Order: sequence, then C-alpha cells, then structure tokens
Amino acid sequence: MLEIVRIPVLSDNYVWLVHEPASGETAAIDPAVAEPVLAEAASRGWRIGQIWNTHWHPDHIGGNEAIKRATGCAVTGPAAEAARIPTLDRLVAEGDRVRLGEVEAVVMEVPAHTAGHIAYHLPTEEVVFVGDTLFAMGCGRLFEGTAEQMHDNLQRLSALPPETAVYCAHEYTLANGRFALAAEPGNWAVQRRLSEVEAARAAGEATVPTTIALERATNPFMRASSAAELAERRAWKDSFRG
Ligand code: ZN
Ligand code: FE
Repeated sequence: MLEIVRIPVLSDNYVWLVHEPASGETAAIDPAVAEPVLAEAASRGWRIGQIWNTHWHPDHIGGNEAIKRATGCAVTGPAAEAARIPTLDRLVAEGDRVRLGEVEAVVMEVPAHTAGHIAYHLPTEEVVFVGDTLFAMGCGRLFEGTAEQMHDNLQRLSALPPETAVYCAHEYTLANGRFALAAEPGNWAVQRRLSEVEAARAAGEATVPTTIALERATNPFMRASSAAELAERRAWKDSFRG
C-alpha cells in the first residue's frame, strides 16, 4: 500500500509525495518548488529517488533542478515535451511503465492542456496522477490541444475502475463546483457535493484526491455528451464568474 502525502504549495498547487514502503522508494509528482518537498520528505525520513512530471508548465517542474541537485533523483516525464523540460532523465510515452519499488505506473497520453501531457495510472493501487488534465468537477484549459482531445482523455479516464483515486495538481474544486451547478442546475449530486466542498474549504480542508465515480456523477466536462458540448462548456467556464 502506497503512502501518498499532499504538499500544498504556491497559491493552489498540490505536490504529491508517494512512498512505497516495501522498497522504501519515494517519488515526488510535479514538484512546483523544491524546499517544502525536500522538507516533507526529510521529516518522514524518506529519500526522494524519483520525480514524475505530467507536463512542462513551470508550476509542475519548477522544483526539478533543486531536488535533483539535493538528492540525485531521476526525473521521468513526457517524451513529447522533452525540449521544454531540460531536467528529464527518462522520456516516456503511451503505455510505458514506470516503477516505484514494487509498484508500477502505466503512462497515459492525455494531450490538450499541453500537447504532450501525460498521466500516471497505478492499476494495482487504484490511483491515477492526472496533473492538469482532470480536476475535481473540472478539467484543464485547452492551451495546446482541442476539445476533441480533452473529450477523449476524459472518456478514457472515466473508464478506469470507479473507485480509482484521482490526484489532481490544483485545488480548484470550489470554483469548479459553482460552474458545475450552473452547467447542470438539476444535478443533485453536484448540489450535494458543492455544499460539502463549501464546508471543507471554509474549514481550510483540501478536497483532493477525488475518485472516478465522483467525477462521473458531478464533473460537467467528463459528463459532456460530445466534444462539441465539452467545447461549449469549456468556453463558458473560461469566462465564468460564479
Ligand atoms: Zn498546467
Ligand atoms: Fe498547473
């Protein structure tokens, strides 16, 4: 069983520190910055041996260099974005397998937020690290791809086992939930979840990870019936002030 620790950094990023107890190996997922990640690992007596990046944006790779310098860890990330992530040691693509001790992640290519964005799915752990592709009740902006691609990505993710825990890279759930209710005012699951999220955020609690089942019920982008509907909702959300 993996231990997964949430490290909140910058204004709303989450870095995930993943520890595999059988081997003692530890990986940092999308380290936006180095200091809090190194400090968290040190406080637990863990040594970071790997970094896994989902895409090239600075708030996902900003800590790579300093963590690598401090630990000598190996950095894995999308082959398609190698030119934009100079710290990469291992370049991966669809279907590649990445080991952390006894467990294995399968790489999924999920382009749209960025052209080479990947997710790391750990089937035996029922865990997926999705970066900025899927958020709790939301999805990433379409900076380098199309609504068709995002629709395909979200359909693939929705086909994972429903109990799969989804580790997103940002705490965007409150704003996403307000939009989700505007998009689907009659969806009681969204109404209920939004109340829970409002209470959690008022108490200063995190709302990530989520699950595939919860996203199937409440995520207006995963629930879009077509790429065209996803495109319409994405454009609306981009200018939505809830
Ligand atoms: Zn991003
Ligand atoms: Fe981001």
